[in-house]
Amino acid sequence: MIASMSLAPSRRTFLQQASGALLSLGVGTLTSAAQSPATQVFYDPAMLRHEPASDHPESPKRLDAVMKTVRGLEGQGRLSVVAPRPATEDDILLVHTPQYLRLVRSEIATGLRSLSTGDTEISSGSFGAALTAAGTVVSAVDAVMTGRARNAFCAVRPPGHHASEGRGMGFCIFNNIAIGARHAVRRYGVERILIADWDVHHGNGTQEVFWSDGSVLFFDTHQHPWYPGTGSPAETGEGKGRGCTINRPFPAGAGRNEILDAFRTGLVPAAERFKPELVMISAGFDSRAGDPLGRFTLTDSDFAELTGVVAEIARQHARGRVVSVLEGGYSLDGLARAVDAHIGRLSA
Ligand SMILES: [Zn+2]
Repeated sequence: MIASMSLAPSRRTFLQQASGALLSLGVGTLTSAAQSPATQVFYDPAMLRHEPASDHPESPKRLDAVMKTVRGLEGQGRLSVVAPRPATEDDILLVHTPQYLRLVRSEIATGLRSLSTGDTEISSGSFGAALTAAGTVVSAVDAVMTGRARNAFCAVRPPGHHASEGRGMGFCIFNNIAIGARHAVRRYGVERILIADWDVHHGNGTQEVFWSDGSVLFFDTHQHPWYPGTGSPAETGEGKGRGCTINRPFPAGAGRNEILDAFRTGLVPAAERFKPELVMISAGFDSRAGDPLGRFTLTDSDFAELTGVVAEIARQHARGRVVSVLEGGYSLDGLARAVDAHIGRLSA
């Protein structure tokens, strides 16, 4: 016992020196990249601590359902699960105003049950959860831009695509995907990013953030008329962003024919012109048949095909770089199945 204890430090020192030498040669990096799956899923249980009222559809159970699917795929060696870092205030300020950040922090700290800016319930853990959700997308962008992952899925809540610079609404506090996109621009000098949003609701917050930006092509299929009411085809952006917003609204009952066609005949040629260097997905699965908050009829295999269309755009223009971010999806069983199809295609 004494002998092994006295051996342990020198053995550990030897291993540290050996791995340090390998890392200094770049061997360690190569080895770990070769051994880890190309798809990474970013998740932190801190996001379970955002707790709307018990009967609220945007519940922590959604992430439990998603992660059960993810752990199954991890067990098959299809992906690796990675812990993200929470967003810093500077990350949040890439998109949101300082006044809004202060408002969110103080309303959560004082125990309000709902954000004053919109229909978003909050709890004592919501600020940490919202920072973690935004930081999850930042971490995934880092992984994909540095080549640690080919693509990434962000298992996050609260969702983000309804949040604009100064206003949370529609269950969203911070606009996670917009923060990730701005991070890619600032940190890596990415000039053109595609955000494709297939959530059943229009991503009004994302549209507003990048309305006159020009660095993001925003493509959105959604149900209309439906919450939040925006997303007309006439909304196309302004200034540097003119033509960079593309909306494809469809009536209740729309599904495979309409939405896959919009992606193939609307998104693909637009991406061909725009040539994105990074592709991001606002992956909302409330456009799946049977979702309690939507009336679209997409199936799990339709989500796999949509994923394939977007992944092919990334392969052609963006070295395969895809960062997919969970938005809506409120049937727990349906969400788990749709995520399985989506990540299954990403990791193929
Ligand atoms: Zn939605």
